[in-house]
Amino acid sequence: MNTNDPSFLKLNPDSITDGIGANFPDERSLEKLAREMFGVLQSFGGSNIPTNVLSSQNVQKETLPYLEDLKLTETGFSYSNFQSFPITNIPQSGGGNIVSARRDFPILTETVNGKPLVWLDNAATTQKPTSVIERLSHFYLHENSNIHRAAHTLAARSTDAYEKARSLVQGFIGAGSVEEIVFVRGTTEGINLLSNILSDKQIQAGDEILITHLEHHANIVPWQMVCAKKGAKLKVAPVDDSGQIILSEYERLLNSKTKIVSITQVSNALGTVVPVEEMTRSAHKVGALVIVDGAQSVSHMPVNVQEIDCDFFVFSGHKLFAPTGIGVVYGKKAILDSLPPWQGGGNMIKDVNFDHTTFQEAPFRFEAGTGNIADAVGLGAAIEYLNKFGMKQISAFEHDLLEYGTKELLKVPGLRLIGTAKDKAGVLSFVVNGFKTEEIGKRLAEEGIAVRAGHHCAQPILRRFGLESTVRPSLAFYNSCEDIDALIRVLFQLGSRNRIGI
Ligand code: PLP
Repeated sequence: MNTNDPSFLKLNPDSITDGIGANFPDERSLEKLAREMFGVLQSFGGSNIPTNVLSSQNVQKETLPYLEDLKLTETGFSYSNFQSFPITNIPQSGGGNIVSARRDFPILTETVNGKPLVWLDNAATTQKPTSVIERLSHFYLHENSNIHRAAHTLAARSTDAYEKARSLVQGFIGAGSVEEIVFVRGTTEGINLLSNILSDKQIQAGDEILITHLEHHANIVPWQMVCAKKGAKLKVAPVDDSGQIILSEYERLLNSKTKIVSITQVSNALGTVVPVEEMTRSAHKVGALVIVDGAQSVSHMPVNVQEIDCDFFVFSGHKLFAPTGIGVVYGKKAILDSLPPWQGGGNMIKDVNFDHTTFQEAPFRFEAGTGNIADAVGLGAAIEYLNKFGMKQISAFEHDLLEYGTKELLKVPGLRLIGTAKDKAGVLSFVVNGFKTEEIGKRLAEEGIAVRAGHHCAQPILRRFGLESTVRPSLAFYNSCEDIDALIRVLFQLGSRNRIGI
């Protein structure tokens, strides 16, 4: 028995007891007992159901890949007998008309304080299109069931919907296989999962974990916890005054002690697009594993994890027009299979006895318990919706919007833009002389304009610029130049109030 096998957990026999010294009945005898009881129940008239209800005559049979393909084995659900959904490749430019996309988001017709809602808080969360809202409703009306374990129709519908969502994610981020896609609650849970499963094997005292100054707290705190537990060191790659990583400094920090590099692809506080491909190449030269935090990139640009060649990629559904509570960890299959699980429970096991347990392969090994089935299906629907436009088209549209916003903001007296890197996406962070950021946020809210004012869960990078908070309008492809004009109008009024001393 290989005790290093991450698929296997064996306990010391002395550590297992039932407290009274009795033998546990083995599972087969329990099954036999259940069958006998079922037989007794049937003999008490279990077949009183009218035969016409059971008849399948004139009823069209649904095509359900789960039921068709699944040979229910003792080990439960496995991809070796379920290969029904082809990868949906990302259309770079699906013909959808972006300018009319706004109509697909019913909440954008809300009024706030009597004014039309202007949603510029997309880095915090995005709004949901009708197709996602209706998909969730359809799931609960027609498909709701637990997945993977039952042989009835609703289990097949929900398993098919859930696994289709996984293959849509695979296509969307260019992963090599569905087995590389693990569903989690979001980016934060994804990074915590990785920091937990990697720390045991990958990190020893004196090792180094390298992040950047741009990271969200979700990509700082879990690594601080690993360092504290394992006696490892946290290293931070600095940025220049524009908010871009200083690559020469990053390279200087890489060495044979660097075991994990965990970097954001787009900064949520400044909007900097980080050269993750180049940084991954350098990290691999010293043998480090690379995690990319894609929370702020997936909604703004095409992402291909195989081109980046990162070992792991993490994102949240709610920032991608999908529901909250669902997210993704991509991991290279061979690496995932070499790692132990984080949480234990149902769904992630092949076989459980009191003295030993064997785990499923990836991705199920990392999906203990009942996951967020409906919202995973919602994430699939969001991706199908985005595929109508193609991320290349979305990225080009947003690039123009960001340029327009930058040009207009810089006309506002006393405004200082924080984050001026050449390559930016989605975010326009700023402060205005003489005004507190909350004050600006409140004033904008009075006019129905939603922006974030605060530290954006990225205190270290704001402090790098001598600040505790900024105002952060953030864009999505349903925003327009009119949204930016509405923002600028209020900022100009703010300036004139200041000048006359109100
Ligand atoms: N990483 C980045 C770059 C983020 O912007 C965020 C959220 O704003 C997170 C991680 C955490 O995401 P979540 O709260 O969805 O887990």
